[in-house]
Amino acid sequence: MLKVGFIGLGIMGKPMAKNLFKAGYEVYAYDINNDAIKEIEAAGGIGCASIEEVAGACDQIITMLPNSPHVKQVVIEQGGIIDYAKEGTLVIDMSSIAPNVSKEIQAELAKKSIRIIDAPVSGGEPKAIDGTLAIMVGGEQEDFDQAKPLFDILGSSAVLVGPIGSGNTCKLANQVIVALNIAAVSEAMMLAKKSGTDPKKVFEAIRGGLAGSTVMDAKTPMMLEGNFKPGFKVDLHIKDLNNALETGYITGSPLLLTAEVMQILQMLHADGEGQSDHSAIAKFYEKLTGTSLS
Ligand code: NAD
Repeated sequence: MLKVGFIGLGIMGKPMAKNLFKAGYEVYAYDINNDAIKEIEAAGGIGCASIEEVAGACDQIITMLPNSPHVKQVVIEQGGIIDYAKEGTLVIDMSSIAPNVSKEIQAELAKKSIRIIDAPVSGGEPKAIDGTLAIMVGGEQEDFDQAKPLFDILGSSAVLVGPIGSGNTCKLANQVIVALNIAAVSEAMMLAKKSGTDPKKVFEAIRGGLAGSTVMDAKTPMMLEGNFKPGFKVDLHIKDLNNALETGYITGSPLLLTAEVMQILQMLHADGEGQSDHSAIAKFYEKLTGTSLS
């Protein structure tokens, strides 16, 4: 039977791991949260007590962790995959992290003849459950080809964007566009409301035109109902925009609008909205105007 390791069994990792064993893989799963391991065992996976156990059993290992420091710790720091994996092992990092960190990890692993591709995803928990994630990949063609059968189970598309780090650069571009789009929709809907025009009617009238977008379709109804249940959390978007701004600094790319939306998200965090859906950007405008959109 085909084996795959899976480290990081959170909101995204758990359903992804489940889809892999539903598709016939033997999944060796590890997380620092023991309850998550137990849940995977109960559903048919193989719970592991350590990274060493995963790396000992598998020569392809998926990681789905929060951010750059967690991936560095699990993959290249002492006691990480680097210490236990066999030569030729392929690490498939599906976390959303900083592209320069993906490159740094690749350089360390190469010293031990361990391979890595970065393969962050878009789509959130519903698409992780359905196995319809959009997967953006950075790395070598032959490593992408090896991982493709796994991507076919986890996602509806997988595109090799370029060399290592490109998957995460692509994900940052995605996150910049989404954040700015939510802010634009929030600002425009508040303009309508303050002008005495029904935002619901504005949404209906413009969603089929040039201003329409997937973001507008998904997030406007939430704003107009005052429903900010995540979805994708404000705190996770702060993490991604922080990585975007850091990457902009390293590469000399101007991110003026991103920096402004980052300030909005950080104010929301300070206001206790870190665990709300990122459509809560609308709440920032509600506070500024003392006017509710719902
Ligand atoms: P999460 O916080 O729910 O899960 C992360 C898991 O990693 C947790 O179970 C945690 O215990 C585990 N973990 C942390 N440090 C660890 C370590 N050292 N060793 C082993 N396990 C460790 O996060 P998530 O929502 O599943 O997101 C994972 C990644 O996917 C993030 O990079 C996120 O930005 C990205 N992402 C999330 C969504 C979403 O909608 N949630 C959508 C697209 C991409």
